[in-house]
Amino acid sequence: MEMPNDSIEKIHAEVISCKSCDLCKNRTNAVPGDGDSKASIMFIGEAPGRNEDEKGKPFVGMAGKILDETLAKVGLIRSRVYITNVVKCRPPGNRVPTDDERQVCKDYLEREISIVSPKIICILGRTAYQSLLGGNSILGNRGKFIQKDNRLYFLTVHPAALIYNNKLRKILELDMETLAREYRRLELT
Ligand code: SF4
Repeated sequence: MEMPNDSIEKIHAEVISCKSCDLCKNRTNAVPGDGDSKASIMFIGEAPGRNEDEKGKPFVGMAGKILDETLAKVGLIRSRVYITNVVKCRPPGNRVPTDDERQVCKDYLEREISIVSPKIICILGRTAYQSLLGGNSILGNRGKFIQKDNRLYFLTVHPAALIYNNKLRKILELDMETLAREYRRLELT
């Protein structure tokens, strides 16, 4: 539930100076979410990578480029969505964040979701799937919508996975088409 007087700006300020878990020790910058705080679609990835850590913004490296291109192909505009990660600081060597790190950082994510109040939360990859819905196989469930606790989730692969497996490009594009269709339907209702 949204707390009175909470705001995306407040969360961002807290994230930037947060030292609640050990991921703060190796970061260059913490990486709060970015985009339209009134967006109808929120994307949630795993964690910042090297480029994101350097710039302090999410999805600005190769994975971000893939995401932007795929959004554009289906007619979605990056500046009109909100993009964030399960954890806001880069894990060393881009390892998967631990359960403890995800748990400690979860309050920021929950507050972002409450304030933006998106119509659809698009989960990018297995870590976000595990963290938000307790799921495991993103490839086995991608392309699906899941309704839980008054939120509508959509599952797809993480754009970074395409860097190593180009066969996933078609899958991401198909899923984004599905997402864009549902988004347009919801905007009309
Ligand atoms: S990962 Fe999250 S909880 Fe850990 S230091 Fe960064 S902002 Fe704080």
